[in-house]
Amino acid sequence: MNFNELDLSEEILRAVEDLGFTEMTEIQEKSIPLLLEGRDVVGRSDTGTGKTAAFGIPAVESISPGEKNVTVLILCPTRELAMQAHGEIKKFAAYKRCIKASVIYGGASMEKQIHELKRGANIVIGTPGRIMDHIRRHTLKLDFLRCLILDEADEMLNMGFREDIEAILEFIPDERQTVLFSATMPPEILALTKKYQHDPVYIKLKAAEKSSALIDQYCFQAAMGRKTDMLRLLLTAYEPSSSMVFCNTRKMVDDLTGDLQKHGFKAVGLHGEMKQSQRTQVMESFKCGAADILVATDVAARGIDVTGVDAVFNYDIPQDNEYYIHRIGRTGRAGRRGTAYTLVSGRRQLYELRDIARRTNSDIKEIPLPDRESIIKKKKELIIKELSEEIIPMNEAYEILESLAALGIDSREAAARLIHKRLAAETADIPEFEKPQTLKKGRHRSSGTVKVDINIGRSRRISPNYILGALVDATGMSGGDFGKIDIFDDHTTVEVPESESGYIIERSNPMKIKGHQVEVRLRNGSSERKRQTYDHRRTPDRRKMAYGSRDKSEVCRNYISNRRKRNKNDKKY
Ligand code: ADP
Ligand code: MG
Repeated sequence: MNFNELDLSEEILRAVEDLGFTEMTEIQEKSIPLLLEGRDVVGRSDTGTGKTAAFGIPAVESISPGEKNVTVLILCPTRELAMQAHGEIKKFAAYKRCIKASVIYGGASMEKQIHELKRGANIVIGTPGRIMDHIRRHTLKLDFLRCLILDEADEMLNMGFREDIEAILEFIPDERQTVLFSATMPPEILALTKKYQHDPVYIKLKAAEKSSALIDQYCFQAAMGRKTDMLRLLLTAYEPSSSMVFCNTRKMVDDLTGDLQKHGFKAVGLHGEMKQSQRTQVMESFKCGAADILVATDVAARGIDVTGVDAVFNYDIPQDNEYYIHRIGRTGRAGRRGTAYTLVSGRRQLYELRDIARRTNSDIKEIPLPDRESIIKKKKELIIKELSEEIIPMNEAYEILESLAALGIDSREAAARLIHKRLAAETADIPEFEKPQTLKKGRHRSSGTVKVDINIGRSRRISPNYILGALVDATGMSGGDFGKIDIFDDHTTVEVPESESGYIIERSNPMKIKGHQVEVRLRNGSSERKRQTYDHRRTPDRRKMAYGSRDKSEVCRNYISNRRKRNKNDKKY
């Protein structure tokens, strides 16, 4: 359905046309007519599906000439998002002179905002904390508010804005339209809608396979401590014209940005602890292309809409499945293809990523790092392609060639020197990796196995499922990675891939089985009278074994997600 099939004013249609929008996205098609009618709406759709216009267009449409009171309030989780929504709203209002849209966020001058509000804003966009500040100081009056919009409501709750939001709601007349948009619909959101909305219409679009089908997803592995080199290698090999790199901490953002800059990359960093002026500057330099790599934390980058990001790099493994989806959603927007790369170092991260892939139903291909030779080959081809293209007259260049000829350097030699210089500049700094690493699942099975010894056995009435469950739980590996389990009276041996034995021992000490603290050691020698032998890999129905009645993969998933939750509590943005 096209925008001009809606009952919209001439001014808005013209503005929408200027923006190059003709057809509505699904969320727009479903929500705009309802919002124009004044209904309460809860809308869920993926990032990049045009939610800003979905609420922004009806908001702009609802303001009539001469409106001097704040009639529409839009709450956004971050300053960047508020600024972005403000920017979009102003575009929709390009031909509606009566719209006065103000943006209000923390970290900026209070006086300036007060001044702007006094000038008769009728649409206010802001972050909950600062909006609440203005309400308390009576510099923002909501007595005439007709419409409240919560954008990225899930993220606002995640960021602890619930109290502010509820307090703000207390200041708004009951006779109002309440609209809520979110990328996810956790129970807390539903509780909020129940409490504050009147007879809302739920528009829940399925997480579109279409958008992620446009994103090719890969992961690469390298040794611990080589992630920065890995990133440099990938940036050099793939040369994305614009990319976003995600880190889990502010410090990592700073360190990585510095490292990349040192190596000549045009990188800028963005995180929550930067001053507002710095952040604005960073976003501007990225948007205009002065910087082509934006290194950011999840929260700082949340929802930022920069078109034309053609690659996303997960430098750190996202600490949440949702974050993975949001991160890769920065690319492959508006029908364009994009690529997402995840950098993995160490088993633990690999298992975490596989868990994310499973839970988000993502197809993440594990491929070897590009090697130096193929990168150089590609650069050579590029030089040939570039030089074979016709260029404008180059009289000055020929003059230089003549001067060189006078010095005994003929054109061929001059060209070779230039090409050499260019190639060297582009390839001298390529990080070296031992050998391309493949990450075939279960590759270690073909390599040797060793046995580990666990000091618990039949006398404690254990069965193989307890052993396997505990190992899966401790290592994050899958049940199929372990081999034969032999249970003796007072101990148990388990066959494990030799390459993983160190990791397994490290991760499983300490470990508890059936409430007993056990030790896991590498086993020497193997002369033993076996009591019971199990090879669980040959009996698929054992996969649903009685480890607390959960199956192995669930045990493994729970473990990883709990661990991630714990990490999340430590993390600071
Ligand atoms: P969301 O809030 O759902 O993540 P945005 O509102 O940020 O998505 O929109 C994503 C991009 O899509 C923006 O660049 C926006 O200008 C563009 N867009 C929105 N609606 C349309 C449309 N109907 N046609 C074309 N592009 C659109
Ligand atoms: Mg949005």
